[in-house]
Amino acid sequence: MRGVFLRMNNQDQGMDVAREHGDEGEYDIGYFKENGFVRKKCKKCGSWFWTRDRDRDTCGDAPCEIYSFIGAPLFKEHSPEEIRESFLSFFELRNHTRMKRYPVVARWRDDIYLNIASIANFQPLITSGSVPPPANPLVISQPCIRLEDLHSIGKSGRHLTMFEMMGHHAFNKRGEKEIYWKNETVQYCDEFLKQLGVAEDGITYKEAPWVGGGNAGPCLEVIAGGLELATLVFMDLEAVHSNTNGDTFIRGQWYRKMETYIVDTGYGLERFVWASKGTPTVYDAIFPEVIEELLGSVGMEHPKERYYNELIEIARLSGVMNKREIAMKLQLSDDFFDNILEPLETVYAVADHTRCLAFMLADGVVPSNAKEGYLARLVIRRALRMLKSLECDMPLEELVALHIKLLRKSFPELMESVDLINEILELERRRYEETLSKGERIIRQMVMERKKGISVDTLINLYDTYGIPPEFTREVASRIKNANVNVDIDIPEDFYSRVAKMHGEAKRQEEDMALVSLKERTKTIPKTRRLYYEEPESTVFSATVLDYFDRFIVLDKTLFYPEGGGQPADTGVIRLDTDTDTGTGTGTGNELKVVDVRDVEGVILHEIDTGTDTDMDAVGIEIERGKQVSGSIDYRRRMAHTRHHSATHIVIWAARKVLGRHVWQAGAQKGELRSRLDITHFKRISDAERREIEKLANEMVMRDEDISASFVERNEAERRYGFRIYQGGVPPGKELRIVRIGADEDVQACAGTHCSKTGEVGPIKILRTERIQDGIERLWYSAGEAAVMEMQARDDLIKRSASVLRIPEDRLPETVERFFSEWKQLRKENERLRAEIAELHVSVLKAKAQEIGGIKVIAEVIPDADEKELMRIASRLSTEGFVALLLSRIEIDNRVAVVSSVPDGLELDAAMIVKRVCHVLGGGGGGTAKMARGGGERIERMGDGIAAGLELMSEQLKAKG
Ligand SMILES: [Zn+2]
Ligand SMILES: [Zn+2]
Repeated sequence: MRGVFLRMNNQDQGMDVAREHGDEGEYDIGYFKENGFVRKKCKKCGSWFWTRDRDRDTCGDAPCEIYSFIGAPLFKEHSPEEIRESFLSFFELRNHTRMKRYPVVARWRDDIYLNIASIANFQPLITSGSVPPPANPLVISQPCIRLEDLHSIGKSGRHLTMFEMMGHHAFNKRGEKEIYWKNETVQYCDEFLKQLGVAEDGITYKEAPWVGGGNAGPCLEVIAGGLELATLVFMDLEAVHSNTNGDTFIRGQWYRKMETYIVDTGYGLERFVWASKGTPTVYDAIFPEVIEELLGSVGMEHPKERYYNELIEIARLSGVMNKREIAMKLQLSDDFFDNILEPLETVYAVADHTRCLAFMLADGVVPSNAKEGYLARLVIRRALRMLKSLECDMPLEELVALHIKLLRKSFPELMESVDLINEILELERRRYEETLSKGERIIRQMVMERKKGISVDTLINLYDTYGIPPEFTREVASRIKNANVNVDIDIPEDFYSRVAKMHGEAKRQEEDMALVSLKERTKTIPKTRRLYYEEPESTVFSATVLDYFDRFIVLDKTLFYPEGGGQPADTGVIRLDTDTDTGTGTGTGNELKVVDVRDVEGVILHEIDTGTDTDMDAVGIEIERGKQVSGSIDYRRRMAHTRHHSATHIVIWAARKVLGRHVWQAGAQKGELRSRLDITHFKRISDAERREIEKLANEMVMRDEDISASFVERNEAERRYGFRIYQGGVPPGKELRIVRIGADEDVQACAGTHCSKTGEVGPIKILRTERIQDGIERLWYSAGEAAVMEMQARDDLIKRSASVLRIPEDRLPETVERFFSEWKQLRKENERLRAEIAELHVSVLKAKAQEIGGIKVIAEVIPDADEKELMRIASRLSTEGFVALLLSRIEIDNRVAVVSSVPDGLELDAAMIVKRVCHVLGGGGGGTAKMARGGGERIERMGDGIAAGLELMSEQLKAKG
């Protein structure tokens, strides 16, 4: 699949669209006409393309043409820095604003985890037109990560997991002055290529309409030397549900023109560098130092020293034919493929993966079993496995550090994370080893149980659930194969791409139907004024009823905070009979209890307690639109939430200080008494770290810093504070409510209520931490009054414990320790004595054996024995060939314990015997045919019970004959 590097759709899809779309004049671009281009149809693939070369009859793209640039660079050699700088400054000179890169983790989006394209920075709010672009037009070089071609990395010579997409973007809106569109886009591209020195006649622009992520539009692929260097997308269509509002039909999907039309270009930085060097692979062009280092450490020389011509030939053909065909054509030996090329491809892949990890980990991804953490772990484990197959001793972290060193000029921010990355990767290696040793057991068991092969689904499940790589499964299974178990395992070539794909897209929560209908019902109601922001101190307010339905009342303004951002809704009352005109609210009756408050796209709904009835009419509430009402909130509850909310921001700030920059909020819930905060972290929080976080948090409280909240334009907020503002998720809208603590120590987009000074939060007590899932730690804490209560409760606990032991509190730990070790001693002693007593009982009981149907039976009451002892004695007796039925009266709960055991080989059923006896005793019991126990409360019937038991035994023996 060619062009995946720069495009989201696949080739066939593009081709089909091309045929449907080809003649619509979408590509009638003035620049082509004025600069001597002709439109031609590729004689090999049938695509339309534009060229200056009148004699050319193929589109220029592989597989229609070979990689002719290999060994014959398209222009003067450029380093990645040089290419990036020429691109950015070229567009800067043409009025584009140069943007800083966005993180490789898509913090501003909830539909993808990793940044996959420069346009992804501006989706969905800017591309849809609901938020203005941060600059227009703009230019950026964006590091991106795509894992769907994981299996081709190293092998294809051109795929990379992490690549820089250079893009210039113009965001046009219909009815507004156009920034620029197709003509300038093509002109810029052509001029940029010319400036680099690419021969004009060698450039083709192939028509390949683009479809992706719910959008579509015409697109030109820019090709030279057989290599696709850039993609120029003119995004102007959006998917619609049916043809009633769509006008273009592409591959089973209706599209319509968008309100916006966007220039979305992608220039592959690495491909430009590659084209300028003409090396056999893109890897040799981008990180030769890392490849050298790896080859050196495994004692291999770069095959280019001896096989340069072969490598060049293979590379040139690799876009056109597969490895087998190349081998045939070039008459290369299997040995060359197995011993020279394959290890080299693995080296390339490791070098690629470690570069990807440098960005992922430095940008804060914590390896785990979920979301972006899953993807990071996938890359780590794949790299570890490949290092092992190369028999390379070099730790992964050293290679990552080498990349960071090489990248530091362009990405100095990566340097800050070197220590953290070392720690994470060392931990991950240990976890991987543990996984493998655990995995070995699982696979062995699985293989022994099956006679047929292990399916791909099972391989995926083993990887997904236990982290066991399929190669390891095959390896372990093949070892067992020697023991004559036939297990064939085929690992699909694209195994890792498949798992990556399964985890690549965030699952959007299905909007529930109730919310959809609420949105429909409230869409014409004006948005509610939020008094809880304007006057956070107030507890009462008056307002006008705008609407009411079901159990909901909508007011023009309100003090009631609606549930959101992990903060529960306010509760309180709304009074209907307030006559504000005369100021003579009667205050009698008609007080409506507000039990929940919801924000439906800016309209705040107060849910009224109507008991079991579904609406207000049913309970006779008389309400009318336009009526003045008053409301009051439960202020104590609100203050407790407010304190806990501000405490949450303080705790995450402190956690980041103590644990590292990678700490990111993974969830939070505020309460009145305690709150919890989930953070990403790669190991358990130690006691010392927990104390340090608590100390820092309380220092922040004592410093009494300002907490301020204000609405800031979205782009401005992102520019000023970065993406850390999205800790609690990504709120919609043009403006964000930004909550800042102190000198911007913590800054978050947050809709919650907050104290105005950190001092108002009061003491913060971290109660405990727990690991809720791999890579996520949960902190429980209380703030303000609740923290004082927690501390008092703990104090109480100590006091009560000390008074039980009758010692001063400060001697509690040592005393408890002493008691505990003494207790353990005594327990051992107790066990020994009980065993002795049981032995005594056994010898006494053996003398009392009676015979029933030729079997030796002991049916006795043993005074002072507990159930455990009865069982011990019974099992000793049955090993000596006796059937035992033992009863004992348990003094403390005034009941009878019953135990029965049957020696091996006898046809009696202990469970049935016990059931029969217990029935007589007015109780029940059960167990196995060999050993059973039970009990009952009718102490006076112990004798009858034994008799019933003996009777059953003879019945059972008779039945068996
Ligand atoms: Zn073609
Ligand atoms: Zn918040």
